Amino acid sequence: MSSSPSNLSLNGPFGGHGVPSSAEVVETTEMESSLIEQIADNLARGHPSVAARVLLRGRALGLIPRSTPATSWLTAHLNADAVQPIAEAIASLPAPCCLNGFVPCPQCDSSGTDGAQHCDSCCALGVQRCDFCDGTGLMQYHDLPEDLIPMIARRRLGIVADAMTALESTTDDAGRDAKKLRVRMLNTVKLLGVIENVVTQLPHLSPEHVNEIHELHRTSGQLAGTLKPRRTATLSALGECWRERCQAKVDQSEPACDLAAYFTDLAARPGLARTVLANPFLFVEDVDTRNKAPGD
Ligand SMILES: [Zn+2]
Ligand SMILES: [Zn+2]
Repeated sequence: MSSSPSNLSLNGPFGGHGVPSSAEVVETTEMESSLIEQIADNLARGHPSVAARVLLRGRALGLIPRSTPATSWLTAHLNADAVQPIAEAIASLPAPCCLNGFVPCPQCDSSGTDGAQHCDSCCALGVQRCDFCDGTGLMQYHDLPEDLIPMIARRRLGIVADAMTALESTTDDAGRDAKKLRVRMLNTVKLLGVIENVVTQLPHLSPEHVNEIHELHRTSGQLAGTLKPRRTATLSALGECWRERCQAKVDQSEPACDLAAYFTDLAARPGLARTVLANPFLFVEDVDTRNKAPGD
């Protein structure tokens, strides 16, 4: 499908009479030139994220045909060197749907508890993974130029690897602090979500990316395999942390003893199926088999 000015004039922001007039054709051309200028200018000034947003807005408005690979469009109108910085900037653009991948848990009003009991809906974390971005806080792949997806996915896995290193260096000072452990748990959930999103995207990539697909699959498996025991260790540490508070009876009204038992139980389960923490596309143990007949 090619993008003609009539695409814009049907229901878009540029008028509603369907048949393009010559004035609209000129306007579109001018708008495309303006897009190119804005992208070039922002790249030159070291603002690739702004350049990336301009490119995506141009596609959303139909000024850049969605059927045209972004690589071809950028190479034709700017140069091939523009492709990588823009793809890498797109990789970290935040999703517009939520705050960093999470939404407040409506069940417990973000408290993580329901009276003296933990909240099952959010695994006592007070937030749930955003449905739209799968808890990644990043733009969904289906909104992005398809030809850039392998590059974007590779960059995102690189960000995950860096974040894992940073998370590791804070291991000691999270200690027995339930708030810090909760943040570490949420970070782990988010990083697993980013990897899971890459994995679920791979079958949709064009076979021409076969080498990149293999590489992304391998890297995703390595990162997820390293994060999984950390997920368990953090749940375990949360259990320990609440157990100390339960035994010390710091606050009789808080559900410390229930939380201690709950997190300890989660850490001991082979998978987290049937919880909001599950990553069924990464770990077979996390697949919910409730509705499957034996042998399925
Ligand atoms: Zn909740
Ligand atoms: Zn979201």
